[in-house]
Amino acid sequence: MEGKKQHVVLFPFMGQGHITPFLLLAELIHEYYPDYTITLVNTPLNIRNLQSSLPPGSKINLKSLPFDASSHGLPPDTENTKAIPFHLFINLFRASETLEPAFERLIAGITEEDGIPPLCIIADNFFSWTLHIARKFGVFHSTFLTSGAYGSALLFSLWKYLPHRNAYSDEFSLPDFPEIRLHHTQLSNILVVADGGDAWSVLLRRLNELCTRSDAVLVNTVKEFEARGLSMLREQLQGPIFPVGPLLCTSASHSMGMDLSDWLDSQPSASVLYVSFGSQNTIRASQMLKLAMALEATSRPFIWVIRPPVGFDVRVQFKSEWLPEGFEDRMRGTKQGFIVHQWAPQVEILSHPSTGAFLSHCGWNSVLESLVHGVPIIGWPLSAEQFYNSKFLMEEVGVCVEAARGNRESSEVKKEEVERAIEIVMDNEEIRRKAKETARVLKSALKEEENNTNVGSSLRGLKEFFQTALSKRVVT
Ligand code: UDP
Repeated sequence: MEGKKQHVVLFPFMGQGHITPFLLLAELIHEYYPDYTITLVNTPLNIRNLQSSLPPGSKINLKSLPFDASSHGLPPDTENTKAIPFHLFINLFRASETLEPAFERLIAGITEEDGIPPLCIIADNFFSWTLHIARKFGVFHSTFLTSGAYGSALLFSLWKYLPHRNAYSDEFSLPDFPEIRLHHTQLSNILVVADGGDAWSVLLRRLNELCTRSDAVLVNTVKEFEARGLSMLREQLQGPIFPVGPLLCTSASHSMGMDLSDWLDSQPSASVLYVSFGSQNTIRASQMLKLAMALEATSRPFIWVIRPPVGFDVRVQFKSEWLPEGFEDRMRGTKQGFIVHQWAPQVEILSHPSTGAFLSHCGWNSVLESLVHGVPIIGWPLSAEQFYNSKFLMEEVGVCVEAARGNRESSEVKKEEVERAIEIVMDNEEIRRKAKETARVLKSALKEEENNTNVGSSLRGLKEFFQTALSKRVVT
């Protein structure tokens, strides 16, 4: 069986927080299984972007499937969540389902060319409809969860039990998570109104149900970091679960630029606060004002990645009225504030010794990128499983303090609270020590010592995953 050609097909959803870990997974597979053919599939624009970011000499095949955003109420050439406001995400999800026939043709083409179907499909949980195609061709179907285990488990469960109308009452508890009071964790905007019949419920419940039938699930996490989350996830899914993280960028996708690099170099060790809300989220204009006031009040050096607030087109030019009067001018050229518009080289910033804390929306990639560098987190979760990531980091790992939550009109943000959270995290030795210890745990998962001794738990997870896929291979 091992002698046969083995082809692995990876298919991430069209969001940066999905594509990046899938590419990293593809590279990890290539490193340990250099004889396997690896194909990563996506839409033309995302593939073009990937082509320019692949390391020189990469052996990963990139294949694009035809995609027409404009026939689904999306601006032309929309192929990534990065390019659209949140209310259009549902259109992108719907449009993504039209990729099914082209994906089927791709699997048929590979089968014909290789003389054997692929060894496995590794699909995003938002592309769990690939299960039908896998079954048709007798291919092992796996799902790769790019979020953490605890957050994913909670989301699976939350979509099962709808509606959550009494989510803010103390009597409420989630059947699969009796210890959790939902008012502690806060529901994301779309879950508050979900009643089972709305567009998001119908779509995600169908996708989640298919996902639970996947032959195996890979997770971008670490066994020793998320033991409890992984056992909760096992309650939600049928197939075996293999943690294979932390899969994260080791170098920046965008280079730092001399200005920022010099600015960081000029700051004392662990003194800078990095502020960013990920690749697709923003906060409200009124919240930006409070955050700016808190940052100014702490007098600590900060880098803030600023995007247009909720309600504005994400591609519009920055407007100074979203900030306190004169804020940008007061910061310009000083050692206190470095403002970046739209996109920053996050990994380079987090790996710089001057960076001391990360005020983050707690997207899973940001969480891993921060902790692997031993940088503690000031949480401001905004949507999806970010509320549970933040809760896990605060209560189980002890590396996070929440400053605020949400970006709804009703999400109240207090300048003093933000300021307090920043001060606690930046001054607390215990939080720093725990962040450093977490970095050690995360890094050791993908390490192997000389002579293959002491193989990290995620490398073992990857090996067990392929042993399982190979053992299920039906070859005639
Ligand atoms: N990112 C970046 N620069 C930015 C914003 C985001 O490089 O200005 C990267 C970040 O390093 C991470 C990803 O985009 O790898 C965001 O993923 P995450 O899971 O944290 O959040 P999402 O964007 O999916 O909400």
